[in-house]
Amino acid sequence: MHRQHWSVLVVAGLAACGSPEREDVADLIIDHGRVYSFSWDDPAVDGTPAAGAPHAASGWRPDAEAVVVKGEDVVFVGSSAEAGRYRGKGTRVMDVHGATVLPGLIDSHTHVLELGKLEVQVNLIGVATEKEAIERVVDGAKDVPDGEWILARGWDEGAWASHYPTWDLLSETFPDNPVLMDSLHSFAVWGNKKAFEAAGITKDTPDPNGGEILRDASGDPTGVVLNRAGRLLRDAVPETTDAQFRELVAAGLKRMAEDGYVSVHEAGVDTCFMDALEALESEGELPIRVYAMLSARDGALCRKWLERGPVRDNERMLITRSVKAYYDGALGSRGARLLEDYSDRPGHKGVAGCDYGFDMELVAEMMRSGFQVAVHAIGDAGNRETLDFLASVIESDPETRALRHRIEHAQVVHPDDFSRFSELNVIASMEPAHSVEDKTWAEDRLGPERVKGAYAWRTLRKAGARLAFNSDLIGSDHDIFYGLHSAITRRDKHENPPGGWYPEQVMTAEEAIRGYTIWGAYAGGLENEMGTLEPGKWADITIVDIDPLVVGSTEPEKLFEGHIVATLVGGKVLYQRE
Ligand SMILES: [Zn+2]
Repeated sequence: MHRQHWSVLVVAGLAACGSPEREDVADLIIDHGRVYSFSWDDPAVDGTPAAGAPHAASGWRPDAEAVVVKGEDVVFVGSSAEAGRYRGKGTRVMDVHGATVLPGLIDSHTHVLELGKLEVQVNLIGVATEKEAIERVVDGAKDVPDGEWILARGWDEGAWASHYPTWDLLSETFPDNPVLMDSLHSFAVWGNKKAFEAAGITKDTPDPNGGEILRDASGDPTGVVLNRAGRLLRDAVPETTDAQFRELVAAGLKRMAEDGYVSVHEAGVDTCFMDALEALESEGELPIRVYAMLSARDGALCRKWLERGPVRDNERMLITRSVKAYYDGALGSRGARLLEDYSDRPGHKGVAGCDYGFDMELVAEMMRSGFQVAVHAIGDAGNRETLDFLASVIESDPETRALRHRIEHAQVVHPDDFSRFSELNVIASMEPAHSVEDKTWAEDRLGPERVKGAYAWRTLRKAGARLAFNSDLIGSDHDIFYGLHSAITRRDKHENPPGGWYPEQVMTAEEAIRGYTIWGAYAGGLENEMGTLEPGKWADITIVDIDPLVVGSTEPEKLFEGHIVATLVGGKVLYQRE
């Protein structure tokens, strides 16, 4: 495995001469790093670094070499020589040999339960053939006892649509366990005979509305069910126990720690999920910090929190003071609400608001009770109507403006609405990767004019809006180097289009990193605790093996060569690469 006990790189207990005062002795010194504290001011809205930034005509240079940690906090950031003064008996030193030390990364919009499922279940992403898929299951399910369900997910039903697999080889390989193989986009489920038996699907089972059971000439099922027939198989899997649910959540969070993140903002937590998070927190088992957004679709949970009130204590691993609401659908499937018709479907504007389950009264009540509201809005009408809604609550209760509400995605914004983000103190919470993933069809949906207001990070910044960057995993890859590359280049993983897609919207390397650090911290009301490396802040630190400021500014295609070296939360090393 890639993990290694961190003491290997640690030299313990070397007493320096001129030992410091007892209360000044560090627990940990991260030394010989290219440390960027990000303690200087934000860049101008056009991306020009602030006067105090460690940036000159020659480019970026680190503003420190060492970070000193005591307990869970940073106590000093500066030169190695000065950091040495904190060294005493018991101080552990982590020599990072010139790696780049950044404020801990924050993914401010995630779905870690789904990530946990990918971790715990057999991951089939990228399999090319039926045989390869089954080999992966054989490999991944070695420890599953006979009779128990084996779960896998990720085979690409789109790519396999002309030659769906059957249950033959799968049933032969797994005669004693029901096996369920969910597809990448969940439109197809593949199972073995045992699974179909457990689900009671036979020759006599009719195809459900909007679904299909694939069959042979005699009408017998052959191992794959499509679309809404998927639930016939999925419902046969025993319900997740509380312990399993906790395990999934913990697995997703642990994976995020390995991928360099010190915190996630979980976008839509329901009752079961919240129970798992609270249990993990009380057992001290939350690996990284979680900023939980309650799902507005779970009215009972929201009402419970209305009584309880938002968490104001920032000294916690789990902070709940935000609500995730959903205003419209997605652009790709033409569910996002547009002001004018879709360019590629006349007469259609998408769905929104009450039709989409947006409970205005509940959300307004949450705002008035001190909760931040994070509203999913994609289309230009979706964004405008969400801004209208926020404005109306703010008008009647002006103190709610200070809660830093957010629009999640803010994907297509009408030119008249950009300035309203800053007027209403609303954060645009956006996914750099979406711009490069959607570029092939976004213009079809929107046409050449409206697309200029899509994924418009620069326009938003120039209009005074605050941004936060995130992945919206598992829909997009949360790899930080991919996120930074998307933000800095607006090119995909194959560097297309070479000039960038609507390149006037690109971010600088500094802005991109801020989007995943201090701006994410601000979006969670935690900018005094995290997001930069400064004395008094939490020792939440991400160490990487390339300098993303230098590489991102000069050869951004090389960002993909970067790796996470270590992740620390509250001074504790959660992950360290070999
Ligand atoms: Zn999401």
